[in-house]
Amino acid sequence: MNDTTKPLNFIEKIIEEDLASGKTKQVHTRFPPEPNGYLHIGHAKSICLNFGLAKKYGGVCNLRFDDTNPEKEDVEYVESIKRDVEWLGFKWEGDIHYTSDYFDQLHTWAVELIKADKAYVCHLSQEETREYRGSLKEAGKDSPFRNRSVEENLEEFEKMRLGEYEEGACALRVKIDMASPNMQMRDPIIYRIKKATHHQTGDKWCIYPSYDYAHGQGDAIEGITHSVCTLEFVEHRPLYEWFLENLAVPATPRQYEFSRLNVNYTITSKRKLKQLVDEGVVKSWDDPRMPTISGMRRRGYTPKSIRDFIDSTGVTKVDGVVDVSQLEFAVREDLNINSPRAMCVLNPLKVTLINYPVEETEYMTAPVHPQNEDMGTRTLIFTREIFIDKEDFREEANKKYKRLVIGKRVRLRNAYIIEADECVKDENGEIIEVIARIIENTVGKNPEDGIKAKGVIQWVSAEHNVDCELRVYDRLFNDVAPDAGGKDFMESVNPDSLQVLTGCKAEMALQDPVSDVPYQFEREGYYFLDADTENDPEKGIDNQKLIFNRTISLRDTWK
Ligand code: ATP
Ligand code: MG
Repeated sequence: MNDTTKPLNFIEKIIEEDLASGKTKQVHTRFPPEPNGYLHIGHAKSICLNFGLAKKYGGVCNLRFDDTNPEKEDVEYVESIKRDVEWLGFKWEGDIHYTSDYFDQLHTWAVELIKADKAYVCHLSQEETREYRGSLKEAGKDSPFRNRSVEENLEEFEKMRLGEYEEGACALRVKIDMASPNMQMRDPIIYRIKKATHHQTGDKWCIYPSYDYAHGQGDAIEGITHSVCTLEFVEHRPLYEWFLENLAVPATPRQYEFSRLNVNYTITSKRKLKQLVDEGVVKSWDDPRMPTISGMRRRGYTPKSIRDFIDSTGVTKVDGVVDVSQLEFAVREDLNINSPRAMCVLNPLKVTLINYPVEETEYMTAPVHPQNEDMGTRTLIFTREIFIDKEDFREEANKKYKRLVIGKRVRLRNAYIIEADECVKDENGEIIEVIARIIENTVGKNPEDGIKAKGVIQWVSAEHNVDCELRVYDRLFNDVAPDAGGKDFMESVNPDSLQVLTGCKAEMALQDPVSDVPYQFEREGYYFLDADTENDPEKGIDNQKLIFNRTISLRDTWK
């Protein structure tokens, strides 16, 4: 099951040592999202890593909502995150956990820290707290509240809990070392007042633990063995360990940090993605242009393609930026193997085959996938009038143009070779119809006269087809690093990231379209049935108005 040819990453090495030495009996990891937005491609890395390690080593992985920030969190986000994790192909151990499940315990431990004279209620304003903290070059100063008695601190903390203070009036801090070279250790705040209703605990609390205080203790309560997070938490590790040493925790997890996934032309920050939604740059969190897991799902990226991409990025301690084409490569690789083929004409041009009987209909059989017989066959309907793409016809052209030209032949995919005689134009000189002939006896065969067709084009019957709308996406940002160095990413939003094509005509097999994997519209690209098709009764399948998102082009043509 496990790929033994791939070298181990540094976390796998640690885990294998821990298992060998008996330090770890069963690997227990967790994925700890804050439910303040939808998950993005960066989170997919954390999910694949945490769930993947558990799977690889016969362990388990928890899903824990790190919900210590009620103002920014919402159950909508909780639900979307659950869906995304499952869709990516992972199953969490047992029930879902919430840091808020531990608020009572965390409060009890805070009281114990106070009793041990290791925590105090501080009334410095935010501004003053910052000043007192010092800087990287300069030691901090002790708060004037640092040496209050245990009794006074207990009373003050209780007053905080009872809501007797306003937000910002005071906070509970741990007493560590205001001169520590590590800023995180300069008496960090562990409880703040927030008079907000919490999505899980309602109005029970008006004091909330800090991330640093809650996270490691959550890990300890859940028996996490390897707590994997991103590099920005390296400086927090001594604090993580300080809590574990100074509290009577039931277990001792260890924290390990790896580098975040950054992708060029892409933003991976929930806050900034939320801004795109809030300001209407995109339609929703799951807009197919978004680098969110839900956006990629709606666009037609498959769970496997995302997992394969993540796998290709490796797990290291070195920050870097991955080229978005590496993600697109993984998508194409998977879709090429798994997408059913279909024909769809994007810009229909009528072709009348004058030597084909008016009343005749022929049924042709084509494979759903040219390399995979198991995917079965589909039926194409051939008639005297067909549509081809406007791009696939020219009155005259040089030899490089291997499509339909007057006096020349082309093969209709899975059907006859045809030859064009003339074309009809409207009053503006625009070609509106091509008059052509079929070459008899050429379905699946070369013509008897030996004059072969140079190219193959897609087509649909003009009588029997399915009308559809295609949404063609381009990159959302024109800048390779839209938010680097504090740049305003709104300025590099690509105004042409969505192009809507209506009146496209697809073959009849799409009357009952598959909705679990994109189609390969032959010669055009990969297209995935959009959720709007089903949700909008006006445009529902019953009305044969299908909407497809272009998942990705057949080849990388981006300049
Ligand atoms: P954001 O800045 O987008 O809000 P976050 O780190 O604040 O990201 P969390 O919900 O706290 O979001 O993230 C859950 C987990 O996913 C954390 O363990 C975090 O380290 C990890 N994670 C977030 N972004 C990335 C990324 N770009 N690459 C790898 N892991 C990430
Ligand atoms: Mg975070």
